[in-house]
Amino acid sequence: MIKITRGTKDILEDEIPTWQWILDSAKNVFTKSNYVEIKTPIFEATELFQRGVGDSTDIVNKEMYTFCVGGADKTATSITLRPENTAGVVRAYIEHNLNRQSPPQKFWYFGPMFRYERPQAGRQRQFHQVGVEVFGCYEPIADAEVISCAVNFLKTLGLDDLTLELNSLGCKNCKNDYRESLKKALKPYLDDLCDDCKMRYEKNPLRILDCKNEDCQKIFMKPDIKDVIYNDYICDDCKSHFSELLGYLDELNIKYKINKLLVRGLDYYTRTVFEIKSESLGAQSALCGGGRYDGLVEMLGGAPTGAIGFAMGVERLYNLVKKIEKEKLDYFIVSNDPKHALVLANKLRLEGKSAEIDYQNRKFIKQLEKASKCAHRAIILGEDEIKGNFYSVKDLNSGVQEKIEDFRDLI
Ligand code: AMP
Repeated sequence: MIKITRGTKDILEDEIPTWQWILDSAKNVFTKSNYVEIKTPIFEATELFQRGVGDSTDIVNKEMYTFCVGGADKTATSITLRPENTAGVVRAYIEHNLNRQSPPQKFWYFGPMFRYERPQAGRQRQFHQVGVEVFGCYEPIADAEVISCAVNFLKTLGLDDLTLELNSLGCKNCKNDYRESLKKALKPYLDDLCDDCKMRYEKNPLRILDCKNEDCQKIFMKPDIKDVIYNDYICDDCKSHFSELLGYLDELNIKYKINKLLVRGLDYYTRTVFEIKSESLGAQSALCGGGRYDGLVEMLGGAPTGAIGFAMGVERLYNLVKKIEKEKLDYFIVSNDPKHALVLANKLRLEGKSAEIDYQNRKFIKQLEKASKCAHRAIILGEDEIKGNFYSVKDLNSGVQEKIEDFRDLI
């Protein structure tokens, strides 16, 4: 028997109502803040992620599902299953000149993402994200609004016992200064860093701060390293951008914790980065990650454009929310006359009612058993009912049965 591929998961009948509720809530909350949905392909040119997410990230280096299509030789096109959706949305934004509409342009999305990671609780190789991207905004009010949108969505799902962590990485210029100061400070400890961090040291030193290795984390606590991390290295513009953001969050009553070690895994972030965590999720505690990426649109060939967004893992949301039961059907038609049953079910469905029939012409008692499991009411359509042109409708909760003569009373 062929089994499911490691790191992927079937979403079955029991889980669908909760998934649907999460997505309906996302659509509801995002639409209220004037976001429109965008759907981009699940695969894109590999180069988009190499340039957009960054050559030095774990995602691009180790985790992409990349393959060549269109020919056996290596000149074939290399495509990649999207590991995240910001790069794809930015590509679409540039390709369709979406900046022609007056800013800000606000999009939300939902869909599967693919990363070749080691599967464990809360970490899959195919998982789903719901997220937003806002373009055409440098102002900190946009950061506050995006964060509040994430928080509102989580509140709608009944999740408020969460921690919002925030940091500012600085702009293109001060981020570079910080990167250099950090490299200089870490140099004496280079041999003590884990192998991954040794590589990051050259390619992406800020990512070192994201390392979960205990030995590396001890190094970040050394006074000379702490000095660099906790020194306010960001420039004055970035400082006032960040403090304006904090002011807005205070106004909105959104609690936050500043975490100077928060750098996020992707290369494109500038200024604000944030994460929302839940302790109940265990080791994979991050529920939402986001930030500002003011340089990305330009880097991928568009005009300079301020932008910010976030993505949330839907499987992780699913694990935290209260589960929704499958809704029962309005009617189950109990009958030994398949033609009449089918026609009645069809009429009800066209009128917006949900209805099911029995395909196998089983005994009424069996059909009623099935009906009481899946429907609120049974319409009994026996010989008498068909001859007499009426319906016997049984409420499967109370057991009360009544005679209904007019079809309109069923809808
Ligand atoms: P990222 O795109 O890495 O910032 O991730 C944003 C969110 O997506 C995380 O906070 C998680 O909730 C979710 N996520 C990321 N990677 C995975 C994965 N491999 N499996 C399940 N959820 C994931």
